Amino acid sequence: MKAIVFERNGGLEVLQYKDIAEPRPGPNEVVLKVKASACNFNDIWARRGLPGMKIIMPHISGSDAAGVVVDRGSEVQDVAIGDEVMVHCGIACRHCYYCTRGEEFFCHEFKIWGFQTGPLDGAHGEYCKVPAVNVLAKPKNLGWGEAASMPLVLLTVWRMLVSRAKVQAGDFVLIWGAGGGLGVMAIQIAKLFNARPIAVASSDEKLELARKLGAEFTLNRKRDDIFAEVRRITDGRRADIVLEHTGADTWPLSMQCLKWGGAIVTCGATSGFDAHMDIRLLWNKQQNYLGSHLGNKGELIEAMRFVERGLIKPVIDRTMALKDLGRAQDLMETNAVAGKIVMLPA
Ligand SMILES: [Zn+2]
Repeated sequence: MKAIVFERNGGLEVLQYKDIAEPRPGPNEVVLKVKASACNFNDIWARRGLPGMKIIMPHISGSDAAGVVVDRGSEVQDVAIGDEVMVHCGIACRHCYYCTRGEEFFCHEFKIWGFQTGPLDGAHGEYCKVPAVNVLAKPKNLGWGEAASMPLVLLTVWRMLVSRAKVQAGDFVLIWGAGGGLGVMAIQIAKLFNARPIAVASSDEKLELARKLGAEFTLNRKRDDIFAEVRRITDGRRADIVLEHTGADTWPLSMQCLKWGGAIVTCGATSGFDAHMDIRLLWNKQQNYLGSHLGNKGELIEAMRFVERGLIKPVIDRTMALKDLGRAQDLMETNAVAGKIVMLPA
């Protein structure tokens, strides 16, 4: 089969579109014929390499896939050949203390499929294999590319806003990177709960998209004074929730824009891990700083119920041929993407 493979960390030049053997299922695994995969920033982190994290080589990236089950292991009973499915990318042991509490992301064996798995174990190929427990039915109302575009970002934001920050009607939710894959989900989930999204993005095109998705307020981070605008919008009270994923560059401003007693919820730090923090805000203003990492399969299924009813929609920037994955990553690295990029195998 064809797949995008890399054997060492580096720039786009390490990505090779090449022939490799098709995956074979272990006893509890299924093999999918991939109809579509989607790009995430963890594809880029895996390619570049991350301090303190082992990327298994040779590597196939890709944590989001949708496809048809074409083979299954001897122990698989509840997934059939021909099933149309999408992948939940959180791989865990399923029987430890944490897994049995629905906290699979704390499992000592927890891995993000296509990022920490390998060798040659991710979505960006013509076929892929995953544990049978990691597939869920593709909703009938979604095309293949739409289905592939959703799980990672939908689950991540669902857990951030619903499970962790407990978003409520009327909450002002400040959303950084509102035109990105996480941002477009955050706007829609905030609206679903009758909260009031304040979308921040780097271009007017992305803010137009944010408005179409239901953002009540939009701010251009290159032009607007974010702190002053947030205060104006909230009558001086500031945001109830800040959705963070950029880290060092935005964290001090996120704290400044957060109301007393409010919550910053974060799932990443694309601009750096070290941020200054005035801990007086922690006790004196009782701000809450919440971490969040992907989510459990139950949360994804819960969120997908709203996708099936058309209340949360996929947002796709463009669809490209799998062989052009390097070009897709270049678009993401240069911040030229609004929503998700979907890859189609030949
Ligand atoms: Zn476990």
